[in-house]
Amino acid sequence: MTALGYIDNYYADTLEKDKIYPELGETIYTDVCVVGGGLAGLNTALGLIERGKSVALVEAKRIGWGGSGRNAGFVAKGYAADEAALLKKLGLEKARRLVTLTQNARKLIRQRINGFNINCGPLIEGVLTVSWKDNPQELKDYIAETNDNFNTGFEFWPREKVREHCRTEKYFDGLYSPQDYQFHPLRYVHGIARVIADKGGRLFENSPALSVTKDGGGWLVKTEKGSVKAQHVVLCCSIYLDGLDKKLANASFPVQTYIMVTKPMDGALLEKSINTRHAISDMRFCSDYYRRLEGNRVLWGGRVALWANPSDISGMMMQDMLKVYPQLAGHVQPEYQWSGLLCYAPHKMPQLGQIEPGYWYNTGFGGHGLAPTTVGGELIAAAIAQGDDGYKAFEPFGIGYAGGKMGRYVAQLVYLWWRARDYISV
Ligand SMILES: Cc1cc2nc3c(=O)[nH]c(=O)nc-3n(C[C@H](O)[C@H](O)[C@H](O)COP(=O)(O)OP(=O)(O)OC[C@H]3O[C@@H](n4cnc5c(N)ncnc54)[C@H](O)[C@@H]3O)c2cc1C
Repeated sequence: MTALGYIDNYYADTLEKDKIYPELGETIYTDVCVVGGGLAGLNTALGLIERGKSVALVEAKRIGWGGSGRNAGFVAKGYAADEAALLKKLGLEKARRLVTLTQNARKLIRQRINGFNINCGPLIEGVLTVSWKDNPQELKDYIAETNDNFNTGFEFWPREKVREHCRTEKYFDGLYSPQDYQFHPLRYVHGIARVIADKGGRLFENSPALSVTKDGGGWLVKTEKGSVKAQHVVLCCSIYLDGLDKKLANASFPVQTYIMVTKPMDGALLEKSINTRHAISDMRFCSDYYRRLEGNRVLWGGRVALWANPSDISGMMMQDMLKVYPQLAGHVQPEYQWSGLLCYAPHKMPQLGQIEPGYWYNTGFGGHGLAPTTVGGELIAAAIAQGDDGYKAFEPFGIGYAGGKMGRYVAQLVYLWWRARDYISV
């Protein structure tokens, strides 16, 4: 843990300005109480304020302490569930509507960064997803179909071009998404929080909500040292809900993933391996995801697990990195390593909705949350402030039982099977 109260990671060390918000120590009144200061909560709070509601947000630790302040920083359209899964479940029109929401969210994030002067750059365009399989036609067909159905603007990159950017024989062809981009997620979190506070929102850190109960026509959220009385409450707690709401807690399971950041290395040497500033991931079920950072560092992420919290995260990440770029052996050293929890429902889609009048939730973003938390925030804010029912587009992905502990065992087996398939197929 850093002195600032974040886990020890690269983002906390490179946070431009750290504003600490007070602990809640009294009873306050507001239109809406948002519980959870990740991007789901912050986007909901900002959306509400922009629509004229008063808001108090309570965060158990620091804003962006969870996934929102420790992710890889790829701002990409779509959800953790891919377009093919949406198409199968919803048909083209409804699936397209959901994907379009994330394309709009990607634009809105950019507008907010520019309009509110949020210093979370450099914003570097383009995410390249590479294939470990020699099957260009399959990839071309996928790109053509997805562009046609979802207006995604994907480009096919032949292997020669992929290998100019990523100097490895492991990769074949690639899918390039020019409108996706990368940024510094914890600086973005702080920028959005600052805007909320400037517009009159009240933010409280180190103020875990301990209970939510009915209170006349509204809701009472009790924290350790204070309480919030509100007409509406929105739970945005991801996988850290604990006892706050049993039904919601049982509707998802945690998945752990890992990131390492290297020490600065020789720029010329790095370019003989990762000769690009685009963000990179691959098409295996359990993919690597990585990007170059300022000062010739590399952020390398990957793997998932349900329980294991290995002590040697950077050992694992170095192994994965050197498998792709063996030429870096002896020239690269890890400096930071951390893990983070993802909140997954079995359907891999966000969970947005209302459990009873005035009692809302906005969660379940999995490993793909930067654009979707903006979608969730806007929809829940519009529902509360304007009676808009757009959030109902997510009703087919409800908060059914995720299987409790058994669900986690099944998910672990699925994950092991996916990894086995990766080994067999590449
Ligand atoms: C290692 C890693 C890499 C990732 N990479 C990417 C990526 O490149 N691109 C992408 O789009 N997504 C990525 N993700 C996923 C993305 O970060 C998440 O989907 C998103 O941040 C989820 O936001 P959230 O607000 O729902 O949850 P969180 O950010 O986890 O926030 C939940 C907050 O609620 C608070 N809380 C919980 N209970 C209470 C309570 N009782 N009272 C008060 N507060 C409470 C917690 O303290 C926490 O701060 C990654 C995630 C991880 C972990």
